[in-house]
Amino acid sequence: MTGLYIHIPFCRAKCGYCDFASALGKPEEIDVFLEALSREASTHSALAGKFNTLYVGGGTPSLLSTDQLKKLIFIVSGLTGPLRRLAESTFEANPESLDAEKAALLKKAGVSRISLGLQACQDDLLKRLGRVAMSGDFLKAFGLLRAAGFDNINADLMCGLPGQTLKDFADSIEWLLKFKPEHVSFYALEVHDGTPFSADGVKEEPEASADMYEAGAASLKLAGLVRYEISNFARPGRESVHNLNYWEQGEYLGLGPSAASYLGGERRANTTGTAAYVRAALAGEEIPQQSRETLTGRKKNAEKIMLGLRRTAGIELPDDIFIEFNEETDRLLAAGLIEKAGSRIKIKEDRLYVSNAVFREFV
Ligand code: SF4
Repeated sequence: MTGLYIHIPFCRAKCGYCDFASALGKPEEIDVFLEALSREASTHSALAGKFNTLYVGGGTPSLLSTDQLKKLIFIVSGLTGPLRRLAESTFEANPESLDAEKAALLKKAGVSRISLGLQACQDDLLKRLGRVAMSGDFLKAFGLLRAAGFDNINADLMCGLPGQTLKDFADSIEWLLKFKPEHVSFYALEVHDGTPFSADGVKEEPEASADMYEAGAASLKLAGLVRYEISNFARPGRESVHNLNYWEQGEYLGLGPSAASYLGGERRANTTGTAAYVRAALAGEEIPQQSRETLTGRKKNAEKIMLGLRRTAGIELPDDIFIEFNEETDRLLAAGLIEKAGSRIKIKEDRLYVSNAVFREFV
């Protein structure tokens, strides 16, 4: 199975914690970017028809105007064929830039899943994050999506935020659950160099985040959303097909600045700079790469294990890989971090919050 990822590097404002490839985009800059994206897509025409899933992320894809969305869908479907024939097509949106016309257009185009940014239900926390949309905007956007016929919606929440209490996080989940989303993702705040949060001296709160993760996972479980990956919860049958392919070390093509690809054993990522990306694509040159590596042997197998262990179901290991990583798995079993049943290993449910300690064994 092959996934297609498209990165749209524009947002209405830059959040204080964000280190994604995204910047404020004027309409004419977005038009030029779409032309560059079209050129990059055309260099992969040999893959046309081979994709099962699509994920349009960013940035804020919903920032595009309806005409720009039509152009984007035209570019993408040149590689994927009609979107409704895909196993899944996800489109990321932020509430401030979604309207009824865009929601109807996406639905008509065959988009099957929307991922909507919430982060928290307290407006003071959202303001602290530098988010444009407040909780009322989320409420409105969610209603628009349901009215347009979307029956598969993810909402993102963040934990470990400055000034956020365990009760705040629990309240956000309770508030969100009233909307009956099919999928919820949690992200612990990470403070990256070069962001306003880093300049302000905001600190990460790993212990508070772990408590919020565990409390949140328990609430979602009661509401029928099953944790199927460290940070992802879904109603049965609503797990993200695109992301499952990624965790199964399946192949994917990424288009746009910073987009990563994994094809034919090679992992690479486009430059994060939108200007450099656009210039190269429009000049017909190869897109500059920020990294490029062919995974083979032990490194490929170690990555397969790390990706597989992100899933709560764990990973079934063939005998040769089991033998190759015998010492590592024995140490993790002895430390009580993972469990084994036959040839399947998985991180214990109550140890998912220390998954990084497990992954370190395989690096
Ligand atoms: S909306 Fe998302 S991508 Fe855009 S600035 Fe905020 S965190 Fe970054």
